[in-house]
Amino acid sequence: MHKRFVIVDKCEGVFLEQAEPQPERAQVLCKPISVGLCGTDGLIFSGQMPAVEYPRIPCHEVSALVVSDNSDMSLDDGTAVCINPYISCGKCHACRLGRFNCCKFNQTLGVQRDGVLRERFVVDADRVHVVPAQVNPGLFCLAEPLALALHIVQRAGDINGRWCLVAGAGNVGKLVISILRTTGAKIIAWDISQQRLNEAESIGAQVSVNAAEQTAERHVFDVTDGEGVSVAFDTSGQSKSLEDCIRLAAFAGRVVVVSHSKQISNILGSDLVFKELEVVGSRNSLDKFPKAVEMLAAEPQYWQKLISHRFSFSDALEAFRLMQKNSVPHSKIVIDFPD
Ligand SMILES: [Zn+2]
Ligand SMILES: [Zn+2]
Repeated sequence: MHKRFVIVDKCEGVFLEQAEPQPERAQVLCKPISVGLCGTDGLIFSGQMPAVEYPRIPCHEVSALVVSDNSDMSLDDGTAVCINPYISCGKCHACRLGRFNCCKFNQTLGVQRDGVLRERFVVDADRVHVVPAQVNPGLFCLAEPLALALHIVQRAGDINGRWCLVAGAGNVGKLVISILRTTGAKIIAWDISQQRLNEAESIGAQVSVNAAEQTAERHVFDVTDGEGVSVAFDTSGQSKSLEDCIRLAAFAGRVVVVSHSKQISNILGSDLVFKELEVVGSRNSLDKFPKAVEMLAAEPQYWQKLISHRFSFSDALEAFRLMQKNSVPHSKIVIDFPD
């Protein structure tokens, strides 16, 4: 028998036994190496995702070993892989445009259907990406968040040599900064936490601005010769931050919205018009897993720095509780499975 971690109610997680799942045709049976916790997992645990019904096995960021392959991929047992956790309908407007990442009926593992926080899981073979054997395979649980960040940066268009502001230097913001540093963009981190701003500088932000300070806005305009930023990324989840991004964007600039804020933002239509701003959303990722795997393999030490805490699978509940604590600074939390 194998164990699975199940969120059974708000802030309640238990380990339950499960029999070995059987892969059907075109499916692969996997055994996790490492699982990353995402903000979404924290919201599901704390009961802030109304769309999610309990009981739910959480988590969608995973690196794993193949136990058996029942597909045409002919993967050897023990092959290290990571998993694309998004499942699209193939029929809706977005899917017909080939934009499967924002499928109206998207189902993500661990959110709309059961996820990967269990000793064995089965997944469709077309969701599986092989990772390089010579690199620590546990690192590739970062492939999904990195693929997501690559998509966010692609939504910004051409940014080489241009000023970009990242509002919110949490996990997603830091990943966006990590990608931007490879594009030739000039990066301003914008946050109210000095600790997050220091971390943002240590991974590549040229300028950090404490959004809580009175002079914050002037600082951004000073740095950008009075123009504002070419692109502002709102990764923070606060309604005010989208307002900040609209104000701080240059004329003919762009705002990329990533946060899932359910709060109303006060946005002046005339700001959008006079500046002819492009405001675009970014959801999940499309075709970015190969690039994410390549980037992780090329700089494992750099990406390792984004992980602040590791727990063993048997302590998964502690990992979720840590996510709830604002008093303990944390960035990416990873759960490691026994060999
Ligand atoms: Zn995630
Ligand atoms: Zn669809």
